[in-house]
Amino acid sequence: MAALHDALTPVFDEVIRRNPGEAEFHQAVREVLESLGPVLGKRPEYADAEIIRRLCEPERQIIFRVPWVDDAGRVQLNRGFRVEFNSALGPYKGGIRFHPSVYLGIVKFLGFEQIFKNALTGMPIGGGKGGSDFDPKGRSDAEVMRFCQSFMTELYRHIGEHTDVPAGDIGVGGREIGYLFGQYKRITNRYESGVLTGKGITWGGSQVRTESTGYGTVFFVKEALAARGMDLEGRRVVVSGSGNVAIYATEKAQALGAKVVATSDSSGYVVDEAGIDLDLLKEIKNGHRGRVSDYAARRDSAHFVAGGSIWDVPCDIALPCATQNELDADAAAALVRNGCLIVAEGANMPTTPEATRVLREGGVVFAPGKAVNAGGVATSALEMQQNASRDSWSFEHTEQRLSEIMSSIHARCLETADEYGAPGDYVAGANIAGFTHVADAMLALGVI
Ligand code: GLU
Repeated sequence: MAALHDALTPVFDEVIRRNPGEAEFHQAVREVLESLGPVLGKRPEYADAEIIRRLCEPERQIIFRVPWVDDAGRVQLNRGFRVEFNSALGPYKGGIRFHPSVYLGIVKFLGFEQIFKNALTGMPIGGGKGGSDFDPKGRSDAEVMRFCQSFMTELYRHIGEHTDVPAGDIGVGGREIGYLFGQYKRITNRYESGVLTGKGITWGGSQVRTESTGYGTVFFVKEALAARGMDLEGRRVVVSGSGNVAIYATEKAQALGAKVVATSDSSGYVVDEAGIDLDLLKEIKNGHRGRVSDYAARRDSAHFVAGGSIWDVPCDIALPCATQNELDADAAAALVRNGCLIVAEGANMPTTPEATRVLREGGVVFAPGKAVNAGGVATSALEMQQNASRDSWSFEHTEQRLSEIMSSIHARCLETADEYGAPGDYVAGANIAGFTHVADAMLALGVI
């Protein structure tokens, strides 16, 4: 672990004391604090106003019971969360995750990262996150609907277009947003489009929202390569995960001339030296909610490896797009050995702190999720903008806006890293640029 500035050690100790057992939250806070040392010297007013301590404490944390009835008529019970972390820049904004691993520490780590990510987009959105330990895997549509309705029956009182605007994350896509929106509308008797993003195109959604996190990830990589006089043409790419982020990162990487040679899910990974057949992957994953092993079974050029590490597959560009802490120090060492140029995080915090260190020491460019995957939430903000003006933009226009946002995020990271004496360091750039933007707003709004 890198050292903390003296003034930040007690802040971090307090976070650990106040939030026992929440390892992912501690990790996310530590990673930001490690970047903030140089800011304290330049901007003493932040310390005077206790900005960093206040930032680490969520404005509001909601935990609730989610009872529902399964197809066999049995009563099931889950726990729901919404952590409204910071609203200095706008209404709380961030996704909802349905996954058995969800507990308060995961929601807080995601909500904390979301503050800085959202600030980096330059859009007027605060940070929040929600979720449940509900596992949608193997559940029927009717069960997912009943769960979403029960979840929203509590959540509706805490959200609103000017208050808190949830969206999707792992386990929450168009189907779930539909059920959640339907129940919100029914309870409140309001067609409040701006209360959720990731809606269907025909009922208030935005073009490109589905693709945006994956596309944005590749737009960021394109900028990072261009800054080094390179491009994506002919590059070997490995993309972990096979959810929305991974699928659309693969699509855009291929469109820009790269060859994506591996994909994965929680059961293992697939190597396809002919390049991933995206139509087949989409059919299996989106059409049937199937596994990547089904992909290998249907394609001669592909083979499936159960378990193992996808990062053993040699590549120029590694895009971890699955989940937190999926890329560890051994994986990082393999990437360094195989001559990987850049690791860009499509998921939230997929690289462990030790892995990040190994990559940087090995000369691999490392781009953090806060910057790289911000295209998703940025396009959510574009969806809110369209809802507010009762407008809907074309795919081309929306994609153009996304591309401009990603290029400005990239530029801000580099400029900020330069300004604070860490040239080329995307972690420092993203953390400091996101932090100062929120911190200035918090200063202006007083002690609240
Ligand atoms: N869950 C996504 C993220 O991690 C998107 C959030 C949103 O669109 O509000 O940024």
